[in-house]
Amino acid sequence: MIVEGGKGKVGLIGTGMVGASFAYSLMQSGLASELVLVDLDEARAEGEAMDLNHGMAFVRPMRIEAGGYERLANSDVVVICAGANQRPGETRLDLLAKNAGVFEAIIPKVVAASPDAIILIATNPVDILTEISAKIAKKLPHGRVIGSGTLLDTARFRFKLGEYYDLDPRSINAWTIAEHGDNLVAAWSLANVAGLPLKDFRGPNGKILDQAAMQDIFDRTRNAGYEIIQRKQSTYYAIGLSLLRIVEAILRDQHTVMTVNMPLEGRLGVTDMSLSLPAVVGRNGVEEVLELPLDKSELAAFQAAGQVLKDRLAELTGKR
Ligand code: NAD
Repeated sequence: MIVEGGKGKVGLIGTGMVGASFAYSLMQSGLASELVLVDLDEARAEGEAMDLNHGMAFVRPMRIEAGGYERLANSDVVVICAGANQRPGETRLDLLAKNAGVFEAIIPKVVAASPDAIILIATNPVDILTEISAKIAKKLPHGRVIGSGTLLDTARFRFKLGEYYDLDPRSINAWTIAEHGDNLVAAWSLANVAGLPLKDFRGPNGKILDQAAMQDIFDRTRNAGYEIIQRKQSTYYAIGLSLLRIVEAILRDQHTVMTVNMPLEGRLGVTDMSLSLPAVVGRNGVEEVLELPLDKSELAAFQAAGQVLKDRLAELTGKR
């Protein structure tokens, strides 16, 4: 087959809703030349490969196949979306216990099959699973095990702000950091439009930001996942695009600043946990982490998020 897409090989573990959405957007992007789909449910991975391949006549051709871990050899990036979703009545710790077990099985196989690949994790709870995975893959250079973190939350935050001001979300420099979950933190003190702090900014619709609007925008950003799950059981398109954006930065060595999570190793006072901060992402994964000059309450919330997740991980370890 003629392969005329981009350059680069991408592996994908977990071809459920999130994995398939990422695969579908990768195929349309023309970024990669090869995609390998792996799933515990082999038939599902095969079915996804067939369905995607049948659209190949309409995009820039690339190679897509399903297979075992050995097919991941020489991948540039391996994206992991495998694992369980939270079921009604299930606690986060239950979900963590389940998915930690899944990752303990997956990560050594990925590293063995493709030792030079960047490992990009989307499975929840993404922060703790990234920390666990980085420890399992400790021989990999720092920055090679990363999570999609709060990139999706940042996109949601900008969307909500854009909607409020009637402004293109891409014109809004605003970041959510810390946990992809209940301990999300909005870095309000640094948010700006063209350098104008949001407190001094008036949108094209004449609106300025007040306390009530800030609370509403933040709540809707943090709770977006719950709101969607209530309506359609799971969320997948926007996380698929978030993963695509990270993979683009890696394959094209773009040195893009984005909020992803990785082991912080003392940054902003957090050790032994992965949380999101804006980071420079390129061919080597996370190449630099930006220690934001947060205000006092944001920094306290960031550090508190780290402690909550460390406690949760310790609880899991204690339970085993
Ligand atoms: P899904 O149930 O549709 O798919 C999960 C897939 O993982 C299934 O195909 C299953 O067979 C596979 N799987 C399970 N165990 C496996 C193993 N040991 N090896 C290989 N494959 C295995 O779930 P989904 O909706 O695609 O969600 C996947 C994960 O992504 C969930 O943990 C979800 O919470 C998370 N998620 C993360 C974000 C984010 O922003 N990080 C957003 C949405 C969803």
